[in-house]
Amino acid sequence: MIQNDTVSTDVLIIGGGPSGLAASIHLADLLKQKGLNKRILLIEKGRSIGSHIISGAVIKPSVFKELLPGVDLSDIPFNAIVTKDKTVFLTEKRAFALPFHVPYMNNLGNYTASLGEICRFLAARAEGKGVEIYTGFAVDAILYKEGKVAGAKTKDTGIDHHGNKLENFQPGTMVEAKLTIFAEGTRGSLAKMLIKKFDLAKDRNEQVYSLGCKELWTIQEGSIAPGQVFHTMGYPLQNDEFGGGFIYGLKDNRVAVGLVVGLDYKDPSFDVHDAFQIWKTNPFVSSILKGGKFLEYGAKTLPEGGYYSIPKLFVDNAMIVGDSAGLVAMPALKGIHLAIKSGMLAAQTAADALIKNDTTKHFLQQYEKLVNDSFIKSELYPVRNFRQAFAKGLIPGGLHFGTQLITGGAGFFGRLKSHPDYLTTVKLSELKKKPFKERFKGKLEFDKILTFDKSTDVYHSGVHHDEQQVVHLQINNRENFNAVNIEQYGAPEVFFCSSEVYELHTSKTGEKEIRIHAENCMHCKTCDIKSPGDGITWVVPNGGNGPDFQNM
Ligand SMILES: Cc1cc2nc3c(=O)[nH]c(=O)nc-3n(C[C@H](O)[C@H](O)[C@H](O)COP(=O)(O)OP(=O)(O)OC[C@H]3O[C@@H](n4cnc5c(N)ncnc54)[C@H](O)[C@@H]3O)c2cc1C
Repeated sequence: MIQNDTVSTDVLIIGGGPSGLAASIHLADLLKQKGLNKRILLIEKGRSIGSHIISGAVIKPSVFKELLPGVDLSDIPFNAIVTKDKTVFLTEKRAFALPFHVPYMNNLGNYTASLGEICRFLAARAEGKGVEIYTGFAVDAILYKEGKVAGAKTKDTGIDHHGNKLENFQPGTMVEAKLTIFAEGTRGSLAKMLIKKFDLAKDRNEQVYSLGCKELWTIQEGSIAPGQVFHTMGYPLQNDEFGGGFIYGLKDNRVAVGLVVGLDYKDPSFDVHDAFQIWKTNPFVSSILKGGKFLEYGAKTLPEGGYYSIPKLFVDNAMIVGDSAGLVAMPALKGIHLAIKSGMLAAQTAADALIKNDTTKHFLQQYEKLVNDSFIKSELYPVRNFRQAFAKGLIPGGLHFGTQLITGGAGFFGRLKSHPDYLTTVKLSELKKKPFKERFKGKLEFDKILTFDKSTDVYHSGVHHDEQQVVHLQINNRENFNAVNIEQYGAPEVFFCSSEVYELHTSKTGEKEIRIHAENCMHCKTCDIKSPGDGITWVVPNGGNGPDFQNM
């Protein structure tokens, strides 16, 4: 592309995750069937496909048969078929396997996998079909013509901290597109702008999120079989902290372990990364990792508001797919198959729109209809109140969810509302329980064998950011931030950040300020979601910056 100032394409896809890649593959197939020659361009901010991809992952495979007709599942680089699957309740020292599957948590017949590896496979397929994929380019603005989406622009580079142009200044490329598909994943920064500009979340529930921290390990032979899956509840989370752990057995003596925690927790000093490290010290978990070696770390948020939080999915000339649209089935911790399906349905709509030469919202509403006629709705609608039920804690939530199961999802109260996660944090002075650090006093000295501090984990994510750029984590109002986030909440950013970006600095005269080590940023987006008073905006940094995941 992408030396030119302006390029034109028929379809622009922003994001090379499962949703964007599926959209590109299916669109290329459909256009070929119709004998149409159209340009499809996909742009990914990671330096390569997969380098910003992190998931569990246990994947529901059947959608791959739809996406890749004629390809045998054994040709797809899944890791292992799930043959054993248990939910385990943890206390500090003990583990109790539940004698039944928690609803929606049966994984037998699914596959463990590295989603990064699956995305590399899909990208090769897409390129084989003529899709142009450009990695290492961050898209940071939406182009509009007469108020309608007209493509997007990649980020200018060669700019110093203050926004001044340097000698190596390179303007971004304007990519003019008849149709743009937003596939940026969780809390997409452009999707967020689009949703705001066109009020696409009107009458919807607030989106809420979890943060998942994950490590990949090699382990002693026989510690866990490939395809053996455990989900854990309980320790170290308390009643008002929603979430749990996962342990996914992989081939070649590897295991993926992680902890996913709802960002609606109250304690401003709660730290998901550190809770994850403490989780690993439970003897059931540590026995699997004993004698093994930690390979990689990563973290990302996932949208978990469910059906009522899905925004309107289309505007003139554009559609939103995958996590950017909030398509995750949270009771099952699954979004990959929904991301792929939504990408395919957007592709189907795009192909029809290009044939009819009609990309207006009147035509693109077909996409939302297709989503509602597909398994996306039939999976999300029965659990439409799931996450909201747990907002009041595990035990009331469990009872509430029980009523939803017998009433087809409605429960006794119908639609439940949700609140943005940054509103649920309480001020330090209002916290009615021991703050996180006191609760786990003596347990936060990480041994660098089983447990790791943030900087060690961050080192194992391959993260890199160019020094010369405007800091991409932007404090919306410094004065307000100091008065509210630091003084009243005790700078929760220091704790909730998955990668040690935020440091609370106290000067000799006792003045406190937040320092931002943007170079560590994992692109998890937690700060954009959880900062009290909506204090921080995450904007996309230079292309190719960020983590460099190998097999997450
Ligand atoms: C810890 C964790 C565990 C999970 N476990 C499972 C599981 O076991 N099974 C399951 O089915 N689902 C799981 N999920 C959810 C699943 O990973 C997501 O639903 C799925 O990856 C969504 O796909 P996507 O294509 O919408 O987004 P993503 O996979 O996030 O891909 C989006 C891509 O867009 C790129 N991008 C974003 N913004 C820009 C921009 N401005 N310019 C250019 N590129 C951009 C990103 O770099 C990224 O590569 C898990 C998620 C997490 C975080």
